[in-house]
Amino acid sequence: MNQIYQEGKEFAKSYILPYTERTDKESKFPEETFEKLGEQGFLKLLIPEEYGGFGKGLEEHAQACLAFAETCATTALCYMMHNVAVMCIVTHGSSELKAKIFADIIENGKFMALAYSEFGSGTHFYVTEMSAEVNGDSTTFNGKKSMVTSANYASYYLVLAPSVEEGKINNWVFPKESKGLSFELSEWDGLGMRGNSSCPVRIEDVTLDSSYRIGAEGSGEEQVFHVVAPFFITGLGSVYSGTAMHMFEIASSHAANRKYPDGRTLSNIETIQVHIGNIYKHASAARAITLEAARAGANGESDALAKILSARIVASEAAIECGRLAMRVGGGKAYNKALPTERLLRDAYAGQIMAPSADVLTVWLGKALTGQMIP
Ligand SMILES: Cc1cc2nc3c(=O)[nH]c(=O)nc-3n(C[C@H](O)[C@H](O)[C@H](O)COP(=O)(O)OP(=O)(O)OC[C@H]3O[C@@H](n4cnc5c(N)ncnc54)[C@H](O)[C@@H]3O)c2cc1C
Repeated sequence: MNQIYQEGKEFAKSYILPYTERTDKESKFPEETFEKLGEQGFLKLLIPEEYGGFGKGLEEHAQACLAFAETCATTALCYMMHNVAVMCIVTHGSSELKAKIFADIIENGKFMALAYSEFGSGTHFYVTEMSAEVNGDSTTFNGKKSMVTSANYASYYLVLAPSVEEGKINNWVFPKESKGLSFELSEWDGLGMRGNSSCPVRIEDVTLDSSYRIGAEGSGEEQVFHVVAPFFITGLGSVYSGTAMHMFEIASSHAANRKYPDGRTLSNIETIQVHIGNIYKHASAARAITLEAARAGANGESDALAKILSARIVASEAAIECGRLAMRVGGGKAYNKALPTERLLRDAYAGQIMAPSADVLTVWLGKALTGQMIP
């Protein structure tokens, strides 16, 4: 594991762990953690050095998300989205946009979110029903996004909307204070990832000048498939393989500490040993393929796409399977929430349905391997 992973683990111990239970129980966004993420430099991980950041890439993104997810899946998920949004600005943003947003992140601890999914297109989030009316240099937007992680806490929201070029889309950055942008805060009551503060976002006559468009007119799809996809899909691989690894730690430590009256522990029972072995097998395989996918992606290798898609599918499935087995190891203590296993299992269930879902990615993987167009 590289230095970012080690630093991420240290950070998690001090600044994520104290809030994990509250994040879930009270569905509370981990605000204190995000303040510290800014102070300790994690929010600028991917910002180029010339703008005052660390200039890191896909591998470090994967390592940081993994380290955080081994303590709290929700925090890792929110952080992961920020990095994806930053990367769109890094690769396609104008120097004016970079200077403005990166300074706000570095100097003021601001962070970003992705307002992509809509009620209509659901998991196919790159299909948008927004309206974008152009008037000279201004564009007026109307529409609604369905589930936006870090809503109301982030300061900048990436929004996909139609381009003036037929059939194309643009990727825009909406500042939180934009007139006409509002959050339906009461709606998030998710099974897991309960502190991510996800909610619908209303966009009513939001008007922005073209400096808020990321990249050239009509370049949204290219950004979605060449920037958002690798960072988002690999990042989710990290979030769910980290969650699976977290289950291993909880299950193995519980097995070692739970003693019967005859002095034997759960760890002395062969069936439990097999469960622990299987949890480790799934979790470490998911982690290994995720890190390998990040490495291949960072080096632009020809099979990087197949590895990235596989990593996210394997990690999502591994987290759920590890949770199922960890609940058995934990017994009544897991079921009555004396152990955090059930929280992790609830978090893990988001993995298979988050866009692009595990089912959609499985189709994409088959297409990638047989030389077909994606999507
Ligand atoms: C915890 C969490 C956080 C989220 N955060 C964000 C966020 O920050 N920003 C954001 O934009 N969105 C976010 N989302 C939204 C999310 O990623 C999905 O877009 C949304 O959950 C899917 O919407 P839907 O219910 O309409 O799914 P639908 O599109 O109705 O899909 C339902 C099911 O059908 C399957 N399906 C649909 N089409 C196909 C196909 N062609 N092939 C195979 N299977 C298919 C899907 O896999 C899915 O399981 C978040 C979701 C969750 C759970």
